[in-house]
Formats: sequence, structure tokens, C-alpha cells
Amino acid sequence: MDHSDVAGDIANILLTEEQIGAKLDEMAAQIDKDYEGKDLLLVGVLKGAVMVMADLSRRLHTKAEMDWMAVSSYGSGTKSSGVVRILKDLDTDLTGRNVLIVEDIIDSGLTLSWLVANLRSRGPESVEIAAALRKPDAAKVEVDVKYVGFDIPTEFVVGYGLDFAEKYRNLPFVATLAPHVYS
Ligand code: 5GP
Ligand code: MG
Ligand code: MG
Repeated sequence: MDHSDVAGDIANILLTEEQIGAKLDEMAAQIDKDYEGKDLLLVGVLKGAVMVMADLSRRLHTKAEMDWMAVSSYGSGTKSSGVVRILKDLDTDLTGRNVLIVEDIIDSGLTLSWLVANLRSRGPESVEIAAALRKPDAAKVEVDVKYVGFDIPTEFVVGYGLDFAEKYRNLPFVATLAPHVYS
């Protein structure tokens, strides 16, 4: 196994730490406006959303609680099927709560549309979505994402929480990988 520095594995940086930070400032300001005077429960989807949860939540002035879910999407290959299994459920009762799902990236949107339906069935006041990144395929499913950071092309990206084989999550930017990484 190659434990060397990651710099040689990066092909192209799509979004810098500064660009992400500036976008999160905007998103947080909008969320503060929309949830003024309301309770807010942030629900992060492990593991990818860890970075955006940490950075977005720290920019909020709204009093917010945080909880986490881990889900796994059944399916063959790399495409998610929309059939989802809960690996770790919330600790929080959603009755009457204003839930904001915090996600890393929306690709097919299948996982997220399942998640929204699941959380809506638990009697919350509202369920909305904030995602750092969105790919064009997300337009194909009925998932209304209220807060989106960046629309990016249909390319596999890593960093800022996103992994390839569990690596690269700790990169502070969003990037594509060099071809040698995949071979
Ligand atoms: P979908 O929206 O297709 O149901 O699945 C979204 C999930 O697939 C994300 O939460 C993420 O884990 C994974 N995913 C989708 N696109 C990418 C990508 O470009 N890079 C990485 N690392 N993961 C991705
Ligand atoms: Mg995710
Ligand atoms: Mg992954």
C-alpha cells in the first residue's frame, strides 16, 4: 500500500478551500434568515457530510442541534439503487422538529429522496436539504434541495469529506484524481 503524500494523486482542483468557505458563508446566511425564530435540527449523513456539517454549522447564528445517520445504498456497481438500509439511526425524536439534512453531494439523488421520505414519516414540522455539491443527474429525481453549494460536472470527485476507497476525505478542497490512482 502506498502511504505517501496525496499531492501526486490529484489531477485537478475543482473547488478551493477559499471558494468552499465563501459559499458556506452565503448558505449559512440564508439558513439563518429562513430559520429565524425556529428550532433547527441538523442531520448529517455519515461519513461524507462530516466536513460540510462542521463548516456550515459553525457559520450559523441559529441555535441548532446536530444528529447523525449512516445509511448504505444497496446496488450493484457504483450506481446507487435507491434501496437504502439504515446503519445508524438518529437519536432524536423528529416530532415537530425542523429538520435540515446536511449532505456532501447529490448524484442520482436516490439515497436522498429515500431519506427525505423516511424522515418525513416521523412527524417533523419540516424537512429540507442542504448539500455542498450537486451533479447534473440529480435533476432526474424529485428531490427538492433548498440549499446547494456548487453545481459540478458529472465527474468523480474526492476531498472535503468525499472518498475514494475511504481515502482523500481529509483534503480541504474538492478535486479529481489522477488516472494512476484507479489502476
Ligand atoms: P446518490 O445521490 O447517487 O444516491 O448518492 C450520493 C452518494 O454517492 C454520496 O453521498 C456519495 O457518498 C457518493 N458519491 C456520488 N458522487 C460522488 C463523487 O463524485 N465522489 C465521491 N467520492 N462520492 C460520490
Ligand atoms: Mg453523502
Ligand atoms: Mg463513498
